[in-house]
Amino acid sequence: MSRYDVIVVGVGAMGSATCLTLARRGVRVLGLERHGIPHDQGSSHGQSRMIRCAYYEHPDYVPLLLRSWELWEQLGEEAGRQSLYATGGLYMGPPGSEFVESSLQAADTYGLEHERLDRSQLQERFPQFDLPLDFIAMRESKAGFLVPEWCIEDQVRLARSHGAEIHEYESVESWDSDAGGVQVQTAAGTYTAGHLVLCAGAWMPQLSKSTLPLHVTRQVLGWTKPVDPSVLRLGTLPVWAIDCPGEGQLYGFPLTEGLPGPTGFKAAMHAPGVPADPNTIDRESRPGDDATFIDRVRDWIPAAGSELDAMRICMYTNSIDEHFIIDGHPDHSHVTIATGFSGHGFKMSSVIGEVLADMSTEGRSDHPTAFLKISRLA
Ligand SMILES: Cc1cc2nc3c(=O)[nH]c(=O)nc-3n(C[C@H](O)[C@H](O)[C@H](O)COP(=O)(O)OP(=O)(O)OC[C@H]3O[C@@H](n4cnc5c(N)ncnc54)[C@H](O)[C@@H]3O)c2cc1C
Repeated sequence: MSRYDVIVVGVGAMGSATCLTLARRGVRVLGLERHGIPHDQGSSHGQSRMIRCAYYEHPDYVPLLLRSWELWEQLGEEAGRQSLYATGGLYMGPPGSEFVESSLQAADTYGLEHERLDRSQLQERFPQFDLPLDFIAMRESKAGFLVPEWCIEDQVRLARSHGAEIHEYESVESWDSDAGGVQVQTAAGTYTAGHLVLCAGAWMPQLSKSTLPLHVTRQVLGWTKPVDPSVLRLGTLPVWAIDCPGEGQLYGFPLTEGLPGPTGFKAAMHAPGVPADPNTIDRESRPGDDATFIDRVRDWIPAAGSELDAMRICMYTNSIDEHFIIDGHPDHSHVTIATGFSGHGFKMSSVIGEVLADMSTEGRSDHPTAFLKISRLA
């Protein structure tokens, strides 16, 4: 039986960042991952993830976002590969859009570089968008996208180089804890540690041994065949999102060469998908899967065209208030839980790695995450 300081279950977005942070600090860490690394069966595949700092979801995320940005830059330098593309962000919506107004408010509160654009400024600077005449907009400087597959791969490679042990294709079957620490069972054997971090993405409802109200949903990403690629390219187009009240946000990325996955113009709708189980979800795209976004893309971004080239299926693990859940396990004192990322967690996974490393070794973190505790859900 092997003994570690910390065992991390799930080496996806959160787990890879946690393993890297712990290994850098000289902590003896074991990461256990049921699939290969990276993979396309969870929540962290599909070429790109948006990072924005003027956070409309809750202003308390902003300090976490600023630290995340620093850590992503540091990762790029240490790994020798850029996985953060700073493109700026363009957020649009109808008059009074909560998304745009709250993003403006967060930018004001934290002094983030941004500008409000009226309809004519939007039209002049970003003619790619053909939006209703009364729409409002904001441009933020500190925004862009991450390549999730590269972030995870590089964090794991560096974590291993700093001494982390990371096992692929080794699924955790069960775990338990007692006064001395935790025991984790896989088909290959039993491991013990002083602390366990559970960050198993869409499998958390099954693995967490808690009654946290989580629901997993099936989400669709699409790539169109652009009719005018020249106006959609990296350097011309920032990451962008359009508020569709009552539905969600249509969002997408500039056309960028050399990324993993499909070519084409990537767009999707950030909105709750249909309920799913990670063990039985249909990972094939089906006719109609593009229904939430394709008409809007065609109408609002004519250069993107309306013909879909590819789709991918992914999962959100949603909490009831759509905020993350990062806390000690309610019933097991040597266990920390990280879940409920509700479709917006990737951008912050680098700093969450620091939070989870702090909690698993010190029992607390200086990062401001009190608003993400389980008690708020009571
Ligand atoms: C379509 C889509 C678009 C998104 N867009 C954005 C975006 O633009 N910006 C943003 O910030 N966020 C975005 N997100 C959200 C973000 O990607 C997720 O919040 C984040 O990737 C979740 O990371 P995770 O570590 O919790 O899950 P994962 O990365 O899925 O990792 C969990 C890991 O646990 C492993 N695992 C599960 N069970 C076991 C077990 N028993 N034993 C061992 N290993 C196990 C899984 O195989 C998996 O690798 C998006 C998500 C989706 C689906």
